[in-house]
Amino acid sequence: MITPVLPTYARADLEFERGEGPWLLTAKGERYLDFGAGIAVNAFGHAHPRLVAALTEQAQKVWHTSNIYRIPGQERLARRLVDATFADTVFFTNSGAEALECAIKMARKYHAAGGAPERYELITMEGAFHGRTLATIAAGGQAKYLEGFGPAMPGFPQVPFGDLKALQAAIGPATAGILIEPIQGEGGIRVIPNEDLRRIRQMCDEAGILLVLDEVQTGIGRTGKLFAHELAGITPDIMGVAKALGGGFPVGACLATEAAARGMVAGTHGSTFGGNPLAMAVASAVMDLALDETFLPHVNMLGLKLRQKLAMLADQYPRVIESVRGEGLMLGLKCRVPNTDLVAALREEKMLTVGAGDNVVRLLPPLNIGEAHLDEAMEKLGRACAKIDTGLGNEAAAAGAKS
Ligand SMILES: *Cc1c(COP(=O)(O)O)cnc(C)c1O
Repeated sequence: MITPVLPTYARADLEFERGEGPWLLTAKGERYLDFGAGIAVNAFGHAHPRLVAALTEQAQKVWHTSNIYRIPGQERLARRLVDATFADTVFFTNSGAEALECAIKMARKYHAAGGAPERYELITMEGAFHGRTLATIAAGGQAKYLEGFGPAMPGFPQVPFGDLKALQAAIGPATAGILIEPIQGEGGIRVIPNEDLRRIRQMCDEAGILLVLDEVQTGIGRTGKLFAHELAGITPDIMGVAKALGGGFPVGACLATEAAARGMVAGTHGSTFGGNPLAMAVASAVMDLALDETFLPHVNMLGLKLRQKLAMLADQYPRVIESVRGEGLMLGLKCRVPNTDLVAALREEKMLTVGAGDNVVRLLPPLNIGEAHLDEAMEKLGRACAKIDTGLGNEAAAAGAKS
C-alpha cells in the first residue's frame, strides 16, 4: 500500500527532533554530526540564533503580500547581492530548480530580444544536475531522471564532462549559451579546472553567447569564495543560486547582468511565493553572516585542514578511499567500495554525509564549524573506514579459503 507521503525518496530510517549548530538530535537525544547540512543548505548549522531571530522578527510583521506590491526585503537583499557580485539584477525564487528555470528562460529571451529567437539551446555537460522540473531534467540530461516523463524538452545538447573541444564544436547557430556547474555536486564533486572555466568564458564571448552558471550548491561560501566562479577570476552572465542562501529556509535567486536580463520585462516571468518577506528576512541574515570579513578565511582554513586530514585517511585506507576532491568545504571522497557502504558506516558512527554520482561521498559540513568538529569527524571517519577495511580483509580471506 502506498504511503501517505509519495514514496519518491529512498529515505534512511532516521528522524531528528532538533538541531544545534552542526548537530542533529533524535528524540532519544542521540547526537549526529551533520556533514551533509541538508545537502549544502544549512551553511550556518542548525538553529543559528541570528537566523532564528530574523525569521521570528519578520513572522510577527508580515508573511506574504504578493509581488503585485513592492517588497522592501527583496529590494534590500537584491541590492546586497548586486553589490557583492557581478550581477546588476536579481529574480527571487523558492528553490534551485526555479532559479535555473528563470536562468534558462532569461538566456533564451536574451537572444529573442536581440532578434535571434533561433538561439535557444544551452549546452550542458554530462553528469550535470540542475533540478527536477521538466526543463531542468532536460538540461541535466540524465536518463534516470528523464525516463517515463515523455519527450525531453528540446534545447539542451550535452557534451562529455570537461571536454572543451566537444564544447567548442557544439556551439552553433542555435546556441544561446553554456550552462554548467563550476563544481558538479550531484555528479560527484567534479571540479571544472580554473583554466577551463576561463576558456569557456572566452568561448562564450567569441560566439556572442551567454555563460550561465549553476551555483546552487557551490554558492554562499561553500568553496571558500562567495561564489565558485571567483576562484577562476571570471564572471557569468546569469547565475542560479539557492540551497545555502536561506540557510534552511526555502529561497533561490537568479542573478544576471543588465545586458543578459534585457528581455525580462514586466510580465515575462513571475512567482507567487518568490521573494516572500519571510525568505528575504532570513536570506538577508544569511548574507550578514556570509559577508562578515572573518567568514571566508575561516572556510578556507578549515577546508585546507579537512582536506589534509582526508588525504591522510585515504593513504591509510587505500582499499576504501581512492582520492579526495573538491574546494573549500565542498569535498568528496571517491570510494573504492560502494559509496553507500561508507555513508551507512558513517551513519552508524553518528555522522551524516551525502552520496553523489561517480561513487563519491560528499562532505558538506556547516561552514561555521570549528576545528574540534573536524577532529570529531575524522575520528568517526577513521572508525568507519577501519570497519569497512576489516570487512574487506575477511572477505578476501574467506574467498581464499574456499578456493
Ligand atoms: C540542488 C541543486 C539544484 C536543484 O535545487 P532544488 O532546490 O532542489 O530545486 C540545482 N542545481 C544544483 C547544482 C543543485 O545542487
